[in-house]
Amino acid sequence: MNLSKRIDSIPPYLFVAINKKIAEKRAAGEDVVSFAIGDPDIPTPEHIISSLCRAARDPVNHRYPETYGMPELCRAIAGWYKTRFGVSLEWEPTSEVLPLIGSKEGIGHMSFCLLDPGDVALVPDPGYPVYSVSTLLAGGEVHYMPLLESNGFLPDLDAIPAGVLKKAKVLWICYPNNPTGAVAELAFFEKVVKFARSHDIAVCHDAPYTEVAYDGYRPHSFLEIPGAKDVGIEFHSLSKTYNMTGWRIGMAVGNRRMIDALFRFKSNLDSGIPQAIQLAAVEALTGNQGDIPARNMKLQNRRDKIVEALERIGLKVNKPRAGFYIWAGVPQGYTSVQYVSELLDRIAVAVTPGTGYGKTGEGYVRLSITQPDDRFDEGVRRLLTLRK
Ligand SMILES: *Cc1c(COP(=O)(O)O)cnc(C)c1O
Repeated sequence: MNLSKRIDSIPPYLFVAINKKIAEKRAAGEDVVSFAIGDPDIPTPEHIISSLCRAARDPVNHRYPETYGMPELCRAIAGWYKTRFGVSLEWEPTSEVLPLIGSKEGIGHMSFCLLDPGDVALVPDPGYPVYSVSTLLAGGEVHYMPLLESNGFLPDLDAIPAGVLKKAKVLWICYPNNPTGAVAELAFFEKVVKFARSHDIAVCHDAPYTEVAYDGYRPHSFLEIPGAKDVGIEFHSLSKTYNMTGWRIGMAVGNRRMIDALFRFKSNLDSGIPQAIQLAAVEALTGNQGDIPARNMKLQNRRDKIVEALERIGLKVNKPRAGFYIWAGVPQGYTSVQYVSELLDRIAVAVTPGTGYGKTGEGYVRLSITQPDDRFDEGVRRLLTLRK
């Protein structure tokens, strides 16, 4: 049998490889503490689970879901954007709102809607791997935009060569950022809208972390900028906002043509989101939001603990104002991968190498603060044993 060149060309998904390595260590009897993956340890709030259980018992929800997404969910998403960001979204008769089977699904499929072979996607480096891999799968080419600490981990749009801009069809951005923990202010988003307009480039803002923030900080939506909907869409997800990574539900909102293209593409591949999960999402978006500040306070305490520990063992860290991740500069004399191995071999602590997110990630490792408290504290204790 011959597999396609397409499938042979893609690397294994980053976390598949990391999980395998951790599983091998554990099989060998080692008690590995993993700061590797950003997946909330805190359960989904109870009122959301109750609504899911109720909906699961209703036979209406046992049949194929409405392909587009239920009207009550589209309304709930539009209402949430209005309340949270002051952004107005139309959801009928044609829509600026599209529910997704998790935002990763929509991100991956969007590349196929925007790129023909030879077209260029502008992709942040370091960045979430799906932007570049879906570009390659769609036959496009990737132009990496380095995210440098000296520029607040924002891409320097003025540094993109004119020849690249001519072929560029899409700009990917992500704030609050995974993996660097950086946030973007409205001035940056304003610049992005202007840039997109003058070069006729579609913007995809991947924004799953807007509700995971600390010290009272409130991250922005890219759609708050007047005219943003003319040039782009934003991906959001219930995964990180409501600790619902396992339920698989997210959304794309904004530019009508892009939303329509994404729906046309995906409706030929999937049959929608299970309706019980859509109804649980309605409850999440419209019900009591009190679990979010409580969860953020818990994560903020963990952030403070681990940042202090990393600084004490000599790593250079920027305290993130949002997201799950600590982006830490490795000690002199190590590459990212060497330092990851050092932590795994010496203290059985797993972190991810910055280079897993792109070559500009060299010199950094990423730690996620989403482990249960006892495992988290054990990991911090082990890190502190490296104090000189
Ligand atoms: C977690 C994450 C996603 C995907 O979230 P799902 O909605 O669970 O698919 C997308 N982008 C970034 C940057 C993420 O960290």
